[in-house]
Amino acid sequence: MVDKNMFASDNYSGICPSAWQALEEANRGFGRAYGDDEWTRRACDALRDFFETDCQVFFVFNGTAGNSLALASLCRSYHSIICHELAHVETDECGASEFFSNGTKVLLVPGSDGKVDLDAVRHTVERRTDIHYPKPKALSLTQATEVGTLYSPDEMATIGGLAKGLGLKLHVDGARFANALASLKVAPADISWRAGVDVLTFGGTKNGMPVGEAVVFFNRALAEEFDFRCKQAGQLASKMRFLAAPWAGMLETGVLLENAEHANAMARLLAQLLTEVDGISLVHPVEASAVFVQLPEPLITALHDAGWHFYTFIGSGHARFMCSWQTAEEDVRHFSAEVKKIASLQKI
Ligand SMILES: *Cc1c(COP(=O)(O)O)cnc(C)c1O
Repeated sequence: MVDKNMFASDNYSGICPSAWQALEEANRGFGRAYGDDEWTRRACDALRDFFETDCQVFFVFNGTAGNSLALASLCRSYHSIICHELAHVETDECGASEFFSNGTKVLLVPGSDGKVDLDAVRHTVERRTDIHYPKPKALSLTQATEVGTLYSPDEMATIGGLAKGLGLKLHVDGARFANALASLKVAPADISWRAGVDVLTFGGTKNGMPVGEAVVFFNRALAEEFDFRCKQAGQLASKMRFLAAPWAGMLETGVLLENAEHANAMARLLAQLLTEVDGISLVHPVEASAVFVQLPEPLITALHDAGWHFYTFIGSGHARFMCSWQTAEEDVRHFSAEVKKIASLQKI
């Protein structure tokens, strides 16, 4: 039985076996509270190995907290954060970055395929330097982007150089950072600290964990008192080991990247099958786990009527189909066949 919710979002997926097993192991007996436990130590060490650097790591419950607390630690209240106009930070976090930084303004830049236009970033910083303008202090990128595209290692290095030259700290919203890594097949360091990223919000939830994101500070000085910030925001888990254990388990086994690669492969297949249907075209290149397509309006209605759940307002406002670690190839084929059938009936 196909679950017709399966393409709506990657956070519709369940907990993957590897995360589940780590939780089960972490559930044996007692553990110290508030992160002073073996699982949290193991998970932090696994992330340091993964990034090949002595980064400082914190676990929070969700991406909104990770992004907004990380950004708040880069800025003072009179500063501003530059991000893409489609960024989750701007469109889907209910003003959390402004709230947790006590008023830091978010300034938007355009850019094709969900990626910031570098001239626009430069212009936003340089157009005003007077005391009346909220001084730009941070640049926040999303990798993979809200529309399922990627910044290449070269693009990341260029952006890192630009940010440094403009005096901006560099944050990455990596809700789907694992999908980016799996697709680019580069060392995690190459699209993070080696490219000048100061802090990364590394997503676990959408990649097979039950809950929890890692905030990874490559610039350790910026992590000063971040633990207090987390506590005040209600983001310090007392049973931290249950946020940390899936990270330890999935990193130590390599499942973290395998899950992401599976999701990406399913998205590539879905894109290929959907675009074989007359009248369906891709809106953005499929580089990670999202497929954005232009669908004829009657086809959207018919699919919704048939019970398929998917969004048409996310990102650039086209139909979005998300794949996850749990998406099965036969389900991709089943759904694509149904789309094809409905489309051909509508043509008559
Ligand atoms: C899902 C997502 C987040 C995190 O959202 P939460 O619901 O707060 O966990 C952050 N950024 C992007 C791009 C996302 O897709």
